[in-house]
Amino acid sequence: MMKVLLTGGAGYIGSHVAVSLAAAGHDIVCFDNLSNSRAAVIEHVEAITGQPVPLVVGDIRDRDAVRGAITDHGANAVIHFAGLKAVGESVADPMKYYDNNVRGTLSLIEAMVDCDVRTLVFSSSATVYGEPQYLPLDEAHPTAVTNPYGRTKLMIEEMLSDIAAADPAWRIAVLRYFNPVGAHDSGLIGEDPNGVPNNLMPFISRVAAGRLPELAVFGDDYATPDGTGVRDYIHVDDLAEGHVAALDRIRAQDDALSVWNLGTGQGYSVLDMISAFERINNVRVPHRVGPRRPGDVASCYASPDRARDELGWEAKRDLDAMCASTWRFERTAAMRNA
Ligand code: NAD
Ligand code: UDP
Repeated sequence: MMKVLLTGGAGYIGSHVAVSLAAAGHDIVCFDNLSNSRAAVIEHVEAITGQPVPLVVGDIRDRDAVRGAITDHGANAVIHFAGLKAVGESVADPMKYYDNNVRGTLSLIEAMVDCDVRTLVFSSSATVYGEPQYLPLDEAHPTAVTNPYGRTKLMIEEMLSDIAAADPAWRIAVLRYFNPVGAHDSGLIGEDPNGVPNNLMPFISRVAAGRLPELAVFGDDYATPDGTGVRDYIHVDDLAEGHVAALDRIRAQDDALSVWNLGTGQGYSVLDMISAFERINNVRVPHRVGPRRPGDVASCYASPDRARDELGWEAKRDLDAMCASTWRFERTAAMRNA
């Protein structure tokens, strides 16, 4: 049993990982500055897990605050989700991203060393692969980043690799997420972005709910079966269980740093996603084909083989479960806010 500090634990992925860690018998403490989440999320995590979940409101760039949280709660591992993730915003305001993500991670690492904690799971992204040179993307695929957000993820990966090489006592898992979607079955936690969503699934859900008039499909002339972009959508609860498996694995192995893709290996197009959402939830998602979004690639999907072989983990939940749980969260949140 571990006592795990979750930076960004009130966020979309962190809250689901908190539930999976608790289900696996680990103790958890969340650390979040609530810049993109609300404290009420933690109450929902408590309702799901049936146990108190401490929340420390603080910023990862505040070394004393992180040190205090680790010491006060006796944490012996950290899962690090805290960061900013909007690609467009990172282009407009790169300093904000280097400060929050890169400086924030360095400060977190310093606080961990102060407390003699060297077990870390880091949220990276498939964005570090850039334009795929072959598919599926395995962990050996070269990295190439195209925007400041992606660059912060790659810089952090490289920083962690240097740190692990210098001190083999580190146990670090770098997890490269593909496209996390869906919500916990309770409908109590899920993805609820501020403002107009950047990502496909929350956009579809808001159009279905009538909160947005129509979805723009970003291009239908890609070299894919139906011309729309293909991605590897993974249920957030599968992703969450991948973190539990990675934490178990790094504690048991001698490698100071390992990299694992968390994806399904299955690609779906934008039109696949729309029709699955409409069919499963019996709703309409009005959409219109528009221009391509700059920077998008045609297809991106994982080879999940290394995670399966080394973590004994694979995604179990299908597209129907991803769409149904997204809609359940949308409806539950609407009832709560009514
Ligand atoms: P999210 O915004 O829902 O969660 C991030 C949390 O971190 C938020 O609760 C926010 O308040 C907190 N936070 C941000 N900056 C902080 C700081 N300086 N100090 C303390 N807390 C801070 O995002 P998410 O979708 O849950 O993503 C979690 C992580 O996974 C991020 O690092 C993101 O880059 C990465 N990731 C996400 C996706 C995705 O599609 N959602 C894909 C790949 C990687
Ligand atoms: N997409 C779209 N309309 C939207 C948002 C996204 O057609 O309003 C497409 C996008 O071009 C990509 C896919 O949906 O092919 C997934 O986009 P998302 O932003 O969710 O993830 P990412 O680009 O990071 O893979």
